[in-house]
Amino acid sequence: GDLGGVGGVTPGCPQDVPEAVPEAERRRQSLQDARRALPIFPFREELLAAVGQHQVLVIEGETGSGKTTQIPQYLHEEGYTRGGMKIGVTQPRRVAAMSVAARVAVEMGTKLGNEVGYSIRFEDCTSERTVLKYMTDGMLLREFLTEPDLASYSVIMVDEAHERTLHTDVLFGLIKDIARFRPQLKVLVASATMDTERFSAFFDHAPVFRIPGRRFPVDIYYTKAPEADYLEACVVSVLQIHVTQPPGDILVFLTGQEEIEACVELLQERCRRLGSRLPELLVLPIYANLPSELQARIFQPTPPGARKVVVATNIAETSVTIDGIVYVLDPGFCKQKSYSARTGMESLVVTPCSRASANQRAGRAGRVAPGKCFRLYTAWAFQHELEETAVPEIQRADLGALVLLLKSLGINDLIHFDFLDPPPHETLVLALEQLYALGALNHLGELTTLGRRMAELPVEPMLAKMILASEQYGCTEEVLTVAAMLSVNNAVFYRPKDKVLHADSARVAFGVPGGDHLVLLNVYNQWVASGHSLQWCYEHFVQARSLRRARDVREQLQGLMERVEIAPSSCGGNLDLVRKAITAGFFYHTARLARGGYRTVKHQQPVFIHPNSALFALQPRWVLYHELVCTSKEFMRQVLEIDSSWLLEVAPHYYQAKELEDGSGRKMPKKAGKSREELG
Ligand code: ADP
Ligand code: MG
Repeated sequence: GDLGGVGGVTPGCPQDVPEAVPEAERRRQSLQDARRALPIFPFREELLAAVGQHQVLVIEGETGSGKTTQIPQYLHEEGYTRGGMKIGVTQPRRVAAMSVAARVAVEMGTKLGNEVGYSIRFEDCTSERTVLKYMTDGMLLREFLTEPDLASYSVIMVDEAHERTLHTDVLFGLIKDIARFRPQLKVLVASATMDTERFSAFFDHAPVFRIPGRRFPVDIYYTKAPEADYLEACVVSVLQIHVTQPPGDILVFLTGQEEIEACVELLQERCRRLGSRLPELLVLPIYANLPSELQARIFQPTPPGARKVVVATNIAETSVTIDGIVYVLDPGFCKQKSYSARTGMESLVVTPCSRASANQRAGRAGRVAPGKCFRLYTAWAFQHELEETAVPEIQRADLGALVLLLKSLGINDLIHFDFLDPPPHETLVLALEQLYALGALNHLGELTTLGRRMAELPVEPMLAKMILASEQYGCTEEVLTVAAMLSVNNAVFYRPKDKVLHADSARVAFGVPGGDHLVLLNVYNQWVASGHSLQWCYEHFVQARSLRRARDVREQLQGLMERVEIAPSSCGGNLDLVRKAITAGFFYHTARLARGGYRTVKHQQPVFIHPNSALFALQPRWVLYHELVCTSKEFMRQVLEIDSSWLLEVAPHYYQAKELEDGSGRKMPKKAGKSREELG
């Protein structure tokens, strides 16, 4: 397996195979040479002196200058980890935390998980020996729950600050606060060349340390007319570059896994068709859910005579640096969370990226030599249709999980919290209302016992509520499986192009009445019954890796259930109980079929069942969905059929009987339901 356990020694960390000594020695030397060649190296002493002098330092440097991999090592060499004190480095993205930690472990000649480790949700690759800890910003936020003053850290480096993720933004406020009463704590705020003045101002005008960039010129090309199909345009442009341009690797920016996989497939297919007339083109994807052994391939040097094309999400914008890129293809889009406080709906939407992003992307072409950036949009669009910078996530996200976390840190006055940019007032209010309806807060806005337990689980409030509600319905075993499977939800089924029919019928064979959540439960149970057989996975077109990951997530959630003192229970075959527990968490995400299609129950927004759903053909009257994705339409993904009377049972404060009237039949008498207080 490639997953570590929670804390302690972690035999599961990915490891290098030991090599013969002379080869290892040669490699060590060349790694040290590479370290000294980085733009940051000449500033090592000056930087250490500045850290010594100031408690808070803002560090600005071009992507690839060595901020993330080198600064923590310099501090370690300088003695900041003496006595086992840790240096914590936050990253907005899981992939970045893992790959950067792996790189630093190699540079330090240690095994990942020993002195250098990483911690991301559901995967902790650290040990008692770990002193350089790379982690997602969300994980550091959770550490405040167990160690409110971060006493085991001597340095916190908030990296990629310019990304302005929700978690990073909140860390700013919390860290600024603890820095006041921990004068020994060093705080570094590292960012690409954007926004550093604002960070400095926020931290009481902390000095800015600038690492001069080394960038070669990048020529920028635009299309004459807008592209109707940017995926196709990407594929054509990559092949054009490959055929007409001098050597140099290509980096393509797309918005997500599905698009990237489609692009990789198209490229491979066309290269096959063009055959041996062309030099080899290595096509490598990188996105968050890509297994780590495959991620590592993008960093391997391109063999002589070949050309590499990396097809990436905006992780490659600033979080990871791939050497050798000379050509950048930028369609100008990214996938962003968007949230409507009016309807309470959060969805992922493909939107034009900002001009700042586009410029970062172009910069990736000029690291090793003069480069070229091909923008698949017009110069006019760049000037007039792109925003200057992206809106910070805190202003376009659901704040439920965050408010719950801050409440459990004892921060009650959210309106006056020290935000770099405050969230919209109505979003905060809605988050409070939702937590109240879920039973996590009482009418005074204080955390309830249920809320305290919910905060212990590192998942969104609705999912946490679903898991905890399973205690009342006597089905914790089943619901934990559903929760774990949902965490890998889009990577369970495998659908190879040449076996689409087989794959689809294998999927249909997992069908059970009730909907996708129960299908996921069924898949997992059958896998367990097969003895976790790999063969079984092949035969049923199920991705073994995802199931192993689900098992891992499940184990961790189970451990947390023990911590909040919930005894395991199983409902046997009575899956209505499982559906009720799910409804107890997700009663906000409901839709009803009326003439003309589905509309959300509360806000009458049109929504559609995703074609991959088991319920797509059935179209039941009342459904609950796990998430919305907005592509051509608002699609509900992971859909469950429910009985409308359950909504009154699980959320009597939120639903009124008359909203749910429409002859769905069997009304359940109200006394049969549990009240909110009982569930709490
Ligand atoms: P910054 O944080 O300033 O953008 P990094 O410290 O991430 O810079 O990267 C410095 C250099 O380290 C990169 O230019 C690249 O050569 C190398 N590097 C970083 N991560 C990896 C990796 N996973 N594999 C190989 N080389 C890497
Ligand atoms: Mg970095």
